[in-house]
Amino acid sequence: MKILVINAGSSSLKYQLIDMETEQVIAKGLCERIGIDGHLKHTPMIGGKSVFNEDVAMPTHAEAIAAVIDKLTSEEYGVVSSMKEIDAVGHRVVHGGEKFACSVKIDDSVMAALEECTPFAPLHNPANITGINACKAVMGDVPMVAVFDTAFHQTMPGKAFTYAIPYEYYKNDGIRRYGFHGTSHRYVSARCAELMGKPIEELKLISCHMGNGSSICAIDGGKSVDTSMGFTPLVGLPMGTRCGDLDAGVIQFLMNKYGFSIDEMLNILNKKSGVLGVSGVSSDFRDLDAAAEKGDERAQLALDMFHYWVAKVAGSYVAAMNGVDAIIFTAGVGENSRETRQAICDYFGYLGVAIDQEANSKRGEDIMISTPDSKVKVFVIPTNEELVIARDTKDIIGG
Ligand code: AMP
Repeated sequence: MKILVINAGSSSLKYQLIDMETEQVIAKGLCERIGIDGHLKHTPMIGGKSVFNEDVAMPTHAEAIAAVIDKLTSEEYGVVSSMKEIDAVGHRVVHGGEKFACSVKIDDSVMAALEECTPFAPLHNPANITGINACKAVMGDVPMVAVFDTAFHQTMPGKAFTYAIPYEYYKNDGIRRYGFHGTSHRYVSARCAELMGKPIEELKLISCHMGNGSSICAIDGGKSVDTSMGFTPLVGLPMGTRCGDLDAGVIQFLMNKYGFSIDEMLNILNKKSGVLGVSGVSSDFRDLDAAAEKGDERAQLALDMFHYWVAKVAGSYVAAMNGVDAIIFTAGVGENSRETRQAICDYFGYLGVAIDQEANSKRGEDIMISTPDSKVKVFVIPTNEELVIARDTKDIIGG
């Protein structure tokens, strides 16, 4: 069985074709500048086929999907002989609200429910819906499954997801903590249990997804019980360009003083804040490391803040779960930055965490980076959201 995994953004579309017998990615790629002009980079991973990396006209997502299918099935760049070999499509969908606590097969009622969730993710869900519709238009009635970033966190108890504002805003309007990166937290926590050789039901885990966007999740017995992102992905930790937790009074103050509209204000908080805003250098942790090494104090402050916040939020989850068996690092920063992991783990002395320097220097593999006698284990697990989407799709369509 071969499953196409699609992650559609407003002007981009990432894809992977996965052979489910081996769980191997047989082709992957990225469409960019959809609706502007269009560019496709398609990389076949088997059969010694050529990489395609050229402009392709993509007025809408439908042309992007058509170009992807064309390349997947072509003589020169292809990995399958026809579209019929693609058994199903799994779509990443950002927001499933309270309607979706797990992945679902897409039908008309699901599409209607996705539309209802759109006000919660006005930038992301419309792009995801467009991607699904484009696939339908190009691929006909191939079965499709939606996998939600929010679904894993639907197990959070009311005490964790409720905001302390008048309750009717939750009841009437759905204002609550939803959390994001659920597919990633789910993947790495399950993998961590495998690596520990223990049933996940018996483990208390803290997963630190640290990339451009960052969130932490407390996972007790395999279930998300708390997470740092909220109603939107803006809050929690300071991120690449997002502010993380912020007193709402600051918003009022800045809007009054500088006459910002709410859109301008949110643009600042989403795109110009986080480690970029504090450092004035970059949102990329590699640039911050380099600047800090040269003595840039604001770059160092941004890094110090990030480490501090990860440690502080993770510490609060130790309290929430009354213990922790393992801490997991994943995503761009978590998987690649030995220094960031070390700086965060320096805060965990009280937990009896001890890091094995040699293991912490390795890259690109699932690895335990704590010493054998470390009381709490620490793992680096490269995340694989596409594989979770493909597995869910396979399970749901009954392959
Ligand atoms: P992601 O959102 O998971 O793709 O992560 C992207 C981020 O990972 C980039 O913006 C970088 O800040 C970070 N990153 C990637 N490689 C490294 C590295 N070697 N050291 C530090 N940060 C890295």
